[in-house]
Amino acid sequence: MYGTVIHAPRDIRFEELEDPGIVEPTDAIIRVSATCVCGSDLWNYRGINEIGHPRPMGHEYVGIVEEVGAEVTTVAPGEFVIGSFFASDNTCEICRAGYQSGCVHSEPVQGAQAEYLRVPLADGTLVAAPEVPPDDLVPDLLAASDVLGTGWFGAVAADVGPGKTVVVVGDGAVGLLGVLAAHQLGAARIIAMSRHEPRQRLARDFGATDIVEERGDEGVAHIEEMTDGLGAHSVIEAVGTQESMMQAISSARFGGHVGFVGVSHGQSIPGERLFRSGIHLHGGPARVRRFLPDLIGQIVERKIHPGKVFDLDLPLSEVAEGYAAMDERRAIKSLLRP
Ligand SMILES: [Zn+2]
Ligand SMILES: [Zn+2]
Repeated sequence: MYGTVIHAPRDIRFEELEDPGIVEPTDAIIRVSATCVCGSDLWNYRGINEIGHPRPMGHEYVGIVEEVGAEVTTVAPGEFVIGSFFASDNTCEICRAGYQSGCVHSEPVQGAQAEYLRVPLADGTLVAAPEVPPDDLVPDLLAASDVLGTGWFGAVAADVGPGKTVVVVGDGAVGLLGVLAAHQLGAARIIAMSRHEPRQRLARDFGATDIVEERGDEGVAHIEEMTDGLGAHSVIEAVGTQESMMQAISSARFGGHVGFVGVSHGQSIPGERLFRSGIHLHGGPARVRRFLPDLIGQIVERKIHPGKVFDLDLPLSEVAEGYAAMDERRAIKSLLRP
């Protein structure tokens, strides 16, 4: 089969790889129907993460089950499945509490930007759609594999609910889908922080009521002004940098909640600043698996269209262009079809 391998910063190759096979009796092999480039893949692409030896890329996927190991009981060949980027058993104490990304047996799913993918712990990781979906639902279902689930977790971690004012820091796919989640969860006011016109438009389409273009102290001052000097009830942090995290903490009111889902890079939060903020802080790797059954239901009933975040649709063989377009911010998110 062919798949995507990163050799060095900005060196993405679509090359021949060994076909994946069943290794453990709990594995499934899927034929990938669609995959995509993640904002977090860009940390490797830009050389911010050490690459070391060449690595298969991709962790967001939907596809048709091709083969299952002897112990797999909940998915079968021919079914269309969606899975999270962390494999989980979904049975341990941490999973049962709803924190599948911290499963005691968790392992990352890697190599999804390929024709075939091995998914470990298939019973606990994959969820089958009620039927093989029509083509136009595939991008929506693919979004559930990571960015929708992550945005949704950000909103839940930020305690978004009816009547609340929500600030979303970050206008990448996760931030935009955090807006969608906040809207679905009944927020009264959703303030998206973005300075890019096409992203502002999509944020409004997903339910944002206000846009704030300023960043840093100016952005925080603008949020304060809009919330009677109190700050927001709920803030979703979807970037992962020092600046975005401090902006999120400073945008929340005393007693408010910050859900942080941007992958942390080089952050250090001053203890005294955190103490005085009086906020609830919750986040980390999103427990996408927990939300999958509900999100798949909302998608197949066509209540939500998270696939709108894909503004570039390419054959998988052009994966290098998918990375370049996101890196240069010509695309919000690149969809890839084998
Ligand atoms: Zn991702
Ligand atoms: Zn577990």
